[in-house]
Formats: sequence, structure tokens, C-alpha cells
Amino acid sequence: MGSLLCEHCLAACCRYIALPLDKPTTARDYDDIRWYLMHQGVTVFVEEGDWYVQFQTRCKNLAADNRCGIYESRPEICREYEPGECDYAGGTYEYDNLFTHPQQIDEYYLQKTGRKLEPAGEQGPRRRARPAKRKSAKRSVLVALTS
Ligand code: SF4
Ligand code: SF4
Repeated sequence: MGSLLCEHCLAACCRYIALPLDKPTTARDYDDIRWYLMHQGVTVFVEEGDWYVQFQTRCKNLAADNRCGIYESRPEICREYEPGECDYAGGTYEYDNLFTHPQQIDEYYLQKTGRKLEPAGEQGPRRRARPAKRKSAKRSVLVALTS
């Protein structure tokens, strides 16, 4: 965030994080993504064939004047970011796919497989760890409150 371009930007690159997702292959994978998209500020996008989940969340180090409050010690990922090839482009950013609503996943799945995406309960053994709703954390708080 040090270039001339950044002077005119509202620090678009400091207002989200995006994490890679395993490419969905099963109905359950798509159903999980559908669930991500039910949450405020969550989008899923595909870029050069890779899937990502994005959370709209402002960096805690972003100052009121849209400058980095820890510029000298900012993380590597921020240093590598090139003004001009960045989020400044906004709406012109070229995704392979951008999903902002759960219905878009339904449509994508239907188009891809010719089948409707329907929750079918458990579909055999799970191949990998699934997203969790932190039940255990909530439960431990409840135990602490009631004991
Ligand atoms: S989005 Fe681009 S122009 Fe805006 S602050 Fe980040 S690097 Fe600078
Ligand atoms: S550390 Fe600084 S440059 Fe990096 S996202 Fe936060 S405010 Fe932006």
C-alpha cells in the first residue's frame, strides 16, 4: 500500500481474506459450499481452475485513513501484492466463476451434472475433514456456565 495508485484506493486489498478450497467433486462438497454461501460476507470464486472461499473482513491494522498501520512489519503476503495487478480493478476482475448466493451453486451443479443438488443425508464414509460449526466450543462454554 505504498504506491501512487494506493493513494487513490480505499484499500480494497485489506478488506478480505481468501483461502484455497479443495475442488468440489461430490454432491456433499457442493452442498458444503452452498452452506458457506449462506453466511454474510462469504463468497466463493474459481480462478484459473482453483477454488477459493473469501471472507469479507477488514484487517485490524487498517487505519482510518486507509493506510497500513503496521507498514514496516506487514506480512509477506501484503508485500508481494502488486498495485496495478490488484483489487483496485474491482468489478473488472476476471474470475472463472464467482458465487455469491447458494442458488448459484444449485444452478452450477445442475448444469454440470444434469442432476439437482439435494441434501441426501450421509453418503457413505467421509473422505476428509468437514467444516464444523464449533459445537464442542459452544458446549464447553455451556458446561462452564452451568457448573
Ligand atoms: S487494492 Fe491495489 S491500489 Fe488498492 S491499496 Fe491494495 S494494492 Fe493499493
Ligand atoms: S497488514 Fe497492512 S497491508 Fe496488510 S492487509 Fe493489513 S492493513 Fe493491509
